[in-house]
Amino acid sequence: GTEAESAFDSQKSICPFCGVGCGIRHGNRDKATGWAGSVNRRGEVCPKGVAAFEPVRSADRLVRPLVYESGTHVTAPWDEALDRLESGIRTAVDEHGPEAVACFASSSCTNEENYLVQKIARALGTNNIDNCARLCHASTVAAMVERFGAGAMTNTLEDVGEADVFLVCGANPAAQHPIAFQSYLAPAVDDGTTLLHVDPRETETTSKADVHLPVTPGYDIPLLNAMAKVVVGEGLVDEAFLDDRADGREAFEAHLEDVDVEANAREAGVDPDDLREAARAYGEADRAAAFTGMGMSQHHCGTDNVHALINLAVLTGNVGKPGTGINPLRGQNNVQGANDVGARPGDLPGYDAVTDADARERCADVWGFEPPAEPGRTQVEWTRSVGEDNGIRAAVVFGENPAVTEPNASEVADALADLDFLAVIDLYETATAELADVVLPGSAWAEKAGTVTNTDRRVQRMRPAAEPPGEARRDLEILQAVGRRLTDLGFEYDGPATVFDELTEVAPIYGGMSYEEIGEEYQRWPYPDGANEGVDVLHTAAFANGDRRTELAPVDHVPPADDLEDDQLVLTTGRVLQHFNSGALTRRSGTLMRLRGEDVVQIHPDDAAERGIDDGDEVQLSNDRGSVTVSAEVTAAITSGTVFTTFHYAEPLINVLTGDALDPVAKIPEYKHSAVTVEST
Ligand code: SF4
Repeated sequence: GTEAESAFDSQKSICPFCGVGCGIRHGNRDKATGWAGSVNRRGEVCPKGVAAFEPVRSADRLVRPLVYESGTHVTAPWDEALDRLESGIRTAVDEHGPEAVACFASSSCTNEENYLVQKIARALGTNNIDNCARLCHASTVAAMVERFGAGAMTNTLEDVGEADVFLVCGANPAAQHPIAFQSYLAPAVDDGTTLLHVDPRETETTSKADVHLPVTPGYDIPLLNAMAKVVVGEGLVDEAFLDDRADGREAFEAHLEDVDVEANAREAGVDPDDLREAARAYGEADRAAAFTGMGMSQHHCGTDNVHALINLAVLTGNVGKPGTGINPLRGQNNVQGANDVGARPGDLPGYDAVTDADARERCADVWGFEPPAEPGRTQVEWTRSVGEDNGIRAAVVFGENPAVTEPNASEVADALADLDFLAVIDLYETATAELADVVLPGSAWAEKAGTVTNTDRRVQRMRPAAEPPGEARRDLEILQAVGRRLTDLGFEYDGPATVFDELTEVAPIYGGMSYEEIGEEYQRWPYPDGANEGVDVLHTAAFANGDRRTELAPVDHVPPADDLEDDQLVLTTGRVLQHFNSGALTRRSGTLMRLRGEDVVQIHPDDAAERGIDDGDEVQLSNDRGSVTVSAEVTAAITSGTVFTTFHYAEPLINVLTGDALDPVAKIPEYKHSAVTVEST
C-alpha cells in the first residue's frame, strides 16, 4: 500500500515492547526514535524502544518457509508449506474432531491479526484459542471482571496522576513501564503523591517509594487482608461509597475479625509498623490509585490476590473517579488488544462469553457461521493435554514461544514435539519453531500496519517502515491465506482497515471506533456505536456490567503450591529494563546485549553466606523439575529467603524450574514461587 512506499523516517508506529504504547519510528542508523505519540507526548523512549529495529534487521530472520524433512528443516516454496499446514490441520480435524486442534494468538501482534487467528479457530469449530495473557494477567482479568465487569485498567495514565497515594503491588513500573512511570507517576511523586511499594525486591520503583513492604512471594493475601483490617479498625472506610456502591460489608468485617495484623505482617515478611503506615496512607488518601503486576497475578491464588486488592479499593471508595482504581500494568504492547478481540477460549470479541447465545448470533450475522458454545482449552492446559485421550493433536502457534515461556518448560517442549502436527508463524527459528512441521516466515512490527491497544485501553495505529525480508510475508496476508485454506470463508480483506471495520461490528466495546479517525492519535474503549468518544474513567455511575453495586469478597490465604524442603529458597522471576519476555527480540539487539548480556540470580547476603556463595560465583538452582546454572549477585535488594532471576534468556532456561500449578479460576501458572535448592558449583 501507499504507507509502505513512503520514506522510512516518516512512518509513525508504536513500540513493539511494553504495554505503555509509545510512538516510535525509524531513525538514523537503524535506531528507533520517538515521535510525540499519545502516551509519550514529548517523544521520549526507553532503551528497548531505541533498540527496536535491531531484531528486525537480525541476520537470522527467517526469509523462506521451512518444512520438516528427514529429521531436519529444509526450505520450501510457500505453496508447499501452506499445503502441508492445510493437510496437517485438516487431518487432525477429520480424524479427531476440531477439539483436537489449538491456536495460539500473539499479544505482540496487531488487533487485526489476532482477530483473524480467533476467527480461523472458531471457523474450524473450536474455541481452543488463547494468547500469552494467560501467563501474565489472566487472574487479574478474572477478578476484575467478576467484581467490576471489565478486566482492564479502570483509569488512564493521564488521570492517575491526580492520586494522593499510589499503591504498587508486584510490579516495577520504573523499569518495566519506564515511560509511563517517568511521564505520569514519577512527576506526581515529585509533587507529593505518596508511593507505597509492595514487592519482594528493592527496585528502581522502590527508590522513589515512601514505604516499601518486601513481601515474601505468595503472601500477598495475608498482607492485603491486614491492610484491610487496619483500614476498617481505624475507621478509614468510605461510608458513603460503601452505602451506595457495595454489598457484603457485614460478612467482610466478620471475616476480618480473625485477621491479626501483627501475625499477618510477620507471615508476609514485612514490618507490622510499615504495614500499618501503608494502610493508613492508603485509607486516609482522598484519592488512591492501585497498580498491580505479575507479582500479584502469577500465583495459583492470583485471582484471590487481586480480589484482596480490590477489597481495599472498594472499602476506601477508590473506584470510579479520577486518580483511583485498580490498574493492571500490561506487559506486551498488544496483550490488552489480543484479549479485546477474542483470542480467548471463553470469550468472543469484546468479552461476551462464548456461552452467550445472543453474542454468538451477533458474530454469526457477520461471520456467516456460529462459533462453538463450549469454552475451549487455555494455554498450558492444552500443552498438558498432548498425548492424552481427547488431547490436542495439532496446533498453529502464531508469534509465541511456549517452549521457553511456559512453566516446567522441559515438559512443554516434549509435548510440542509429540504433536501430530505443529505449524509456527514467527520471525526466527525459536525453540518452539525448532519443533514445528512447518514454519512460516512472518513480519516484524516495523513491517506491518494495524492497530494495537495499550495498557490504558487506547487503540493506536502502527505503520510499516520496511518490507519483510526475502520471501517473508506480512502476517495479515499469511493469516488470510491460512484462513482460506482451512475454512470455506473467503478471508478477503483489503488490508487491516477492513478487518478493523469487521471487528467494530462484532465487538461492541470497539463499536464506535474508526480506523481512519484514529490517525496519529488514539481512540479508547469502551467506545460504543453511536458515541462521540471513548470512556476514560470506568465504573463512575455504574460498574461496566451495568450494576451500581459490587460485593466485598473475603479471601483467605492459600499457601504456595511448592513446599519448601530443608534449606530450599523461594525462586521468583521477573523482568529487567533492558530485556523483554522470552528475549526472542531483545537478545537479538547488540545494544541491549551489551547493556545486559547475561542473567544473574539475586541472593540476599545472609542466604549467600550460609551457602558459601560470593558475588559473581556460579550457582546451581535446582529442584525436581530441572536445574540451571547462573552467576550470583549478592545483594540486600532481595528479601532473605527468596532469590530472583529473569525469564529473558533461553540459556539458562529458567522455566525448567517453575511449576505448573494453576489458579483454579484463571488457569494462570504459579511462576512467582518455586522451591529451589541453591548451591555453589
Ligand atoms: Fe517501548 Fe514501553 Fe519503552 Fe515505551 S516504555 S519505549 S512502549 S518499551
